[in-house]
Amino acid sequence: MQKGQAMLPAGGGAGSTPPGAPAGPVDLLVIGGGANGCGIARDAAGRGMSVTLAEMGDLASATSSASTKLFHGGLRYLEYLDLPLVREALAERDILLRSMPHVSWPLRFVMPLGPDMRFAAESPVSRILGRLMPWTRGRRPEWLIRSGLWLYDRLGGRRPVLPRTRALDLRREAAGRPLGDGISRGFEYSDCWVDDSRMVALCARDAAMRGARILTRTKVTGARREGGLWQVELTDVATGKISRHEARALVNAAGPWVEQVLRRVTATPGSEGVRLVRGSHIVTRRLFDHDRCYILQGSDGRIVFAIPYEQDFTLIGTTDEDHPSPDIAPACTRAESDYLRGAVNAWFRNPVAHEDIVWSFSGLRPLHDDHAASATAVTRDYALVLDTPAGLAPLLSVFGGKITTHRHLAEEALHRLAPLIGNSAPGWTRSAHLPGGDFPLDGFAGLDAALQARCPFLDDPWRRRLLRAYGTDAERLLAGAESAGDLGEHFGATLTAREVDWMINHEFARTAEDVLWRRSKLGLRLSGDQVARLAAYMNGRA
Ligand code: FAD
Repeated sequence: MQKGQAMLPAGGGAGSTPPGAPAGPVDLLVIGGGANGCGIARDAAGRGMSVTLAEMGDLASATSSASTKLFHGGLRYLEYLDLPLVREALAERDILLRSMPHVSWPLRFVMPLGPDMRFAAESPVSRILGRLMPWTRGRRPEWLIRSGLWLYDRLGGRRPVLPRTRALDLRREAAGRPLGDGISRGFEYSDCWVDDSRMVALCARDAAMRGARILTRTKVTGARREGGLWQVELTDVATGKISRHEARALVNAAGPWVEQVLRRVTATPGSEGVRLVRGSHIVTRRLFDHDRCYILQGSDGRIVFAIPYEQDFTLIGTTDEDHPSPDIAPACTRAESDYLRGAVNAWFRNPVAHEDIVWSFSGLRPLHDDHAASATAVTRDYALVLDTPAGLAPLLSVFGGKITTHRHLAEEALHRLAPLIGNSAPGWTRSAHLPGGDFPLDGFAGLDAALQARCPFLDDPWRRRLLRAYGTDAERLLAGAESAGDLGEHFGATLTAREVDWMINHEFARTAEDVLWRRSKLGLRLSGDQVARLAAYMNGRA
């Protein structure tokens, strides 16, 4: 990357420092409150740095709430021979699972076998096999799938945390029941589920508990270097009020906007680019009555997941479509939802109709542009680009990455940045818990029993929802409550004023949407009137 000096954009008025803003420069100012920005802010704050994070929307309001929500090594990357990425992601999967056993948990993936399982576009393994065994004609042979799963288990380490692959006779398994006639064999392997947007909110909470300032609805509208410091202009998105801040280092974790922030906000020239690849999901009422998920191979070489979701629903995704601009909000098109239904209907006994879709969402993968021909083939690895002109304050930009690698990415980012601002504290997040996650992997049932004894007025689904969302913090949230009435107003679907207050006070929620679609998914259950009542309550508190 070339070196360059940035200017504040013309018209960026004088502004003032908001109450509570640090008098002097902070060590680190992070742009973006997604998985990567919050992960970096948390790690830095834990190393004793002073940190400000600015997010122009809500935390996780962009890509980090729109993922497939898997901590996974990425089985399909094996076909791209991306073994280091798979190994790193599998190691991370286990570290992250231990650090947040409330918002993530192990999931078994059922892969049925059929006659038309084709390779992904441009995959090196398909090219090699096509040359050596032309009779496979672009199809994945069963022995290759078996070998891939064997390798996946081994890359995950010699002492696996999760159960290993096994072959399935689907005629005898509950997982075979929803599938069409003639589908009798398959495999089952392990990865993990994670509530992506809660994970981000918990990272931000942890960062704040370690001293970081988390500013949501605050856009970074200008940044220029003055010697060893960044002069950063923040704009309050609601009021338009501008404030100025100084920082020793700047992190650009703006996700889909990373290139825009680099060029327009910091005016840094460079050759790195981002390729925006839209991925959409649809949600239906529950399609099957067991807790395993399906990984379905398509005749186009792509895979589609059908995952148990929020107890009563099934999540189906995803797609890979090039997208023109981060400023055009992604939405699931009819063509994408038809494609996803088609992928499921090719395998399931009872077809999913368009009318069965109760919700859909879409996000942009901010992939590091490696000039691959197809969106599916672009690397899912990340790149950290450090700009350190002599004598001037450093800028680190994050391209690409996964929810699964956000902790490791943050550690590597700090490894490179910290010495430049005189911090030599070691990494610490590898063995730390997120707030509420301080219990062992097999400790959920014990927590559940303890909370049941303490709060018998919570029914099973309500109690388990609170434990999944807050872990050991559920006890704190419920402190002093002897009955449901002690939790204040009920907005519907077990959401109470006590819980909403917690999200406002500890998790930076500001609007009903923050509460219903990112701190929880209760938006799937509340009626329009209930949402309006919640919004009125939150406005009244503001
Ligand atoms: P974001 O979450 O987009 O955060 C960037 C933030 O920066 C945004 O909130 C934005 O508002 C803010 N911002 C931008 N400009 C400014 C500014 N000027 N001032 C202030 N704030 C600003 N990964 C997995 O590990 N597992 C999966 O199953 C998985 N599935 C995926 C499925 C799909 C469809 C997609 C799209 C991605 C998936 N990923 C998955 C990848 C993962 O979601 C992303 O890599 C990750 O969320 C990126 O996080 P981020 O922090 O870089 O970006």
